[in-house]
Amino acid sequence: EIGKIADREGVNAYIVGGFVRDLIIGRENFDIDIVVEGDATEFAKVVGRELGAKVHTFSRFKTATLVFKDGTRIDMASARTEVYKFPGALPEVDIAPLKKDLFRRDFTINTLSVKINYSDFGKLIDFFGGLKDIKDKKIRVLHSLSFVEDPTRILRALRFSVRYRFELGKHTEKLLKMAVEKKLFKTVEGQRIYHELKQILLEDNPLRVFLRLEKYRLIEELFPGLRWNREKKDTFERVRKLIIWHRINFPERKTDYHLVYLGALFFKEPLERVKSYLSSLSFPEKEGKKLLKFLDEIYGTYRALKSSNLPSEVYKTLRGREEEFLLLLAALFPDVEEKVVNFMRDWRFVEPLVSGKDIKELGLKPGPAFKEILNRIKYEIIDGRVSREDREEQYSRL
Ligand code: ATP
Repeated sequence: EIGKIADREGVNAYIVGGFVRDLIIGRENFDIDIVVEGDATEFAKVVGRELGAKVHTFSRFKTATLVFKDGTRIDMASARTEVYKFPGALPEVDIAPLKKDLFRRDFTINTLSVKINYSDFGKLIDFFGGLKDIKDKKIRVLHSLSFVEDPTRILRALRFSVRYRFELGKHTEKLLKMAVEKKLFKTVEGQRIYHELKQILLEDNPLRVFLRLEKYRLIEELFPGLRWNREKKDTFERVRKLIIWHRINFPERKTDYHLVYLGALFFKEPLERVKSYLSSLSFPEKEGKKLLKFLDEIYGTYRALKSSNLPSEVYKTLRGREEEFLLLLAALFPDVEEKVVNFMRDWRFVEPLVSGKDIKELGLKPGPAFKEILNRIKYEIIDGRVSREDREEQYSRL
């Protein structure tokens, strides 16, 4: 449908980047990016009107986002057109604006595009040999200055190489090493590094990316003075397993998994140093605060758990704690993992069958004593002194 509208409006439209890459590799990807040779904002408005999607336009960047009723999102950007095409003109064969747009991208595998104009639907366009590089399993930059132009691409290269199990191209690896030597990260806005770091920590296996960061001496570059040792690598591995477990069991709980990794990364580092990492990477304030609080409190929580013998004591120590904190706790301290996991899986959900209303009906007056009674019943259940049958009996007696 979009293709027909493109034909009619006289613009060329292409799906570009990650979506095409993942389509060929066979990986799920729901982010559709469209590049329009022409004005993307105008085009997006027409598409939105005809297909019933909400349109948000950013005229400064000539980009737009379409949100369809089923939740599908499509981002549209304008390739800088040199030749103005009058409305109604047929799509031209001239593909220069697209090529120019794609040349600004990071790696060849991200430069593939598919034309979606109805008249040419599905035509794969490959200016820079991206298809061959996917087949060869290679990450390659488009030109020699790529990493100098934007050092965050170094992090992206390592992230993609782990995700797809691709190698860096020989020349690309050489350029990467040269760029690292020049210590170019110092010139990059912290916020952009933070963004790429977060992307790494949200990958399926951040440890493997970190091992590559280590290989190219980038950990020292990003976190001066940080200890990156066996212990931390083991913790990363444990965090990964816990996250997999958590994703399956609590998919509905919004959890910032990257914070768990960051906690593992910074654990035992002097607080002042952690603060300087946070500020040099321009961490979002809320996130930074949360992380510092975790690091400050986690050892105390661990001590309290160690000396908790009854499940109800564990419950009292952990109730109300953030998911990220609980996962970090279990990952850092294997000897209390079982307690934390039991809390997350079972104990925190225990509710007495008796409710406040029941107690009221017994003629007791509301007050703090209320809560106390209910809590006590809860603890009894958690500690297993009241079985399910007992609970039902207790309820029917009431
Ligand atoms: P993911 O699957 O991780 O979302 P993606 O390729 O969609 O991968 P994004 O970070 O969303 O990654 O980037 C979208 C596109 O923008 C990429 O395909 C890439 O070509 C381009 N891009 C992103 N960051 C850079 C960069 N620093 N330099 C050049 N191009 C970039």
